[in-house]
Amino acid sequence: MARSVLVTGGNRGIGLAIARAFADQGDNVAVTHRGSETPEGLLGVKCDVTDAEQVDAAFTEIEEKQGPVEILVSNAGITDDTLLLRMSEEQFSRVLDANLTGAFRVTKRATRGMLRKRWGRLIYISSVVGLTGSAGQANYAASKAGLVGFSRSLARELGSRNITSNVITPGFVATEMTAVLPEERKQEILGQVPLGRYADTSEIASAVTFLASDSAAYITGAVLPVDGGLGMGH
Ligand code: NDP
Repeated sequence: MARSVLVTGGNRGIGLAIARAFADQGDNVAVTHRGSETPEGLLGVKCDVTDAEQVDAAFTEIEEKQGPVEILVSNAGITDDTLLLRMSEEQFSRVLDANLTGAFRVTKRATRGMLRKRWGRLIYISSVVGLTGSAGQANYAASKAGLVGFSRSLARELGSRNITSNVITPGFVATEMTAVLPEERKQEILGQVPLGRYADTSEIASAVTFLASDSAAYITGAVLPVDGGLGMGH
């Protein structure tokens, strides 16, 4: 049966690949966007995850058009890299607000329907750097590490209602986010990836659809690396 899915930041990049993977399985899929066009076959809802009112309105629209969200993929995220000494409090807070508090906002709204249904899947797109740390990314790494504690708390709070909560930690994925890195940095990262290549967005998507499938019904509180081995040991 078609399920109601929401992928935040599903209008492009990794989020779009995730949204497409669910749609290909026959699910009804909504994606947030902040003004861009919505890719065909998906329900686009205008929503900035840093704004609780927009989050609420987006969920209401999804509920009307495809039913309460049963699978939430919290994927929207930003970077604002610089060394700690140069990082302003605004730069730190802005990244935390989008990546971590944004996940809180959408989760809080989504669990309303999941609790009623006594079924739900929460999936957070974190990053390998949330576990390993990354020079120049203290704000981003903190936000991504925060998702782990957040998700695991929810796994404990909501497990009895048949709601699972899991985190995926991608390594280096070729998207617009990573396209801006200097070539030298890209080569340096590649040298540390045992599989010797970047991930394709579809490889993150297949881990997400797995965690949302019946085959993964007994997996909760997990952190699943999809990183070509980059973060091994963490
Ligand atoms: P992109 O920069 O290509 O896309 C980011 C997405 O997030 C866009 O859809 C963007 O929407 C959305 N977004 C950002 N801020 C907000 C906001 N405040 N409200 C709503 N939507 C927002 O990134 P990727 O596809 O590469 O990354 C997706 C996720 O995967 C991120 O959380 C990222 O941290 C994580 N990740 C990426 C890795 C990589 O190597 N690429 C590695 C590990 C993790 P809009 O189009 O409106 O800007």
